[in-house]
Amino acid sequence: MPLFRNSAISEATRVGGLSAPITVTWELTNRCNLRCTHCLSDSSPEADTRHDLSLAEAKGVVEQLAAARVFQIHFGGGEPFVYRGFMELLRHAQSCGFCCLCISTNGALLSEKRIAELEAMGGIYLQLSIDGATESACDAIRGAGAFRMVTSALERLRDTRIVRTLNFVYCRRNAHELDAVHRLAGRYGATLRVTRLKPSGRGVAVYERLRPTQGQLAYLHTWLGRHEDVLTADTFFHLNAFGGKPLPGFQYCGAARMTCLIAPNGDVFPCAFTQSAIFRAGNLRTQDFAGIWRESPVFNTVFRQRPQGACTTCPAFEGCGGGCPAVKHALTGRLDIPDPDCVIETARSMGGSAMGGDDPAPLCAG
Ligand code: SF4
Ligand code: SF4
Repeated sequence: MPLFRNSAISEATRVGGLSAPITVTWELTNRCNLRCTHCLSDSSPEADTRHDLSLAEAKGVVEQLAAARVFQIHFGGGEPFVYRGFMELLRHAQSCGFCCLCISTNGALLSEKRIAELEAMGGIYLQLSIDGATESACDAIRGAGAFRMVTSALERLRDTRIVRTLNFVYCRRNAHELDAVHRLAGRYGATLRVTRLKPSGRGVAVYERLRPTQGQLAYLHTWLGRHEDVLTADTFFHLNAFGGKPLPGFQYCGAARMTCLIAPNGDVFPCAFTQSAIFRAGNLRTQDFAGIWRESPVFNTVFRQRPQGACTTCPAFEGCGGGCPAVKHALTGRLDIPDPDCVIETARSMGGSAMGGDDPAPLCAG
């Protein structure tokens, strides 16, 4: 499974990184049947696939990841099921020893036959994307038909043993949907996983309009504290500045320390949200994965160092770590400044706690 809450990671990992990633996220293609408003990889039905790794190349990369002792591959895109030969690639990964394969999907191509194949394979975990508990709420963000596609897939998955999560990107427009989406996940036997809207891909253009308000961030902090069954990956540690009990889960950025990203053309980056040229660590068409992980200057001199700058004197720094480098860099071009969604002033005005963060409104119609 991907990035669970309640994981214990040492300080050594926090600074230096692991000898191999726990999870490698792999965007196989930017081709997708949908065109979500905030898509982090700017994927669409028309996306250029000419530079995508071929199936033969992808199999070779899987072998490299196995040799490097990567624990888990998390396939995404775009929509990974549109990648030609994807099922063959999954089987190849299993034959190389991967017993834990995660797939992020919008559910559109999860036919009964394919679900049966995946269930028979075993060791497959699905993350299905949903951004609202109703058709109108979800489709306003993910496009017409998205809600029906994903809930139809969830119906077909209902009686299977395939472990699944519902991925929900928390934003200004759907903050009020948290409780309803949590209930919906429960009805379909899925665990809810909440992530943060970030200015990456098409998320850049909508970020100012859809980023959660400070009140919504306070509400989310309170809400997550009350729902320990909800997964969050590594995206909300900046909310620890609200004080009180730290949110369970990772308390810092895992990019280049315990995870990294492979782009469709084989480029390697610290994570899915840091795909800018200055963070490119290498390319798997010409370089070996283990060598990139071990020796990339951008991994070693930027992402594996303790954050520097204004945040280091902040009283909330130990819990917050300065926030998400990807968001900082995308919005300002800098890494030595507080997260643009820093909540420290809001926390101070609340007396150091998120008590009172009980209102997800205002709902933004924009
Ligand atoms: S840069 Fe941000 S999105 Fe990427 S792993 Fe770090 S915290 Fe997560
Ligand atoms: S100033 Fe930096 S460390 Fe302090 S809460 Fe804000 S982002 Fe976190």
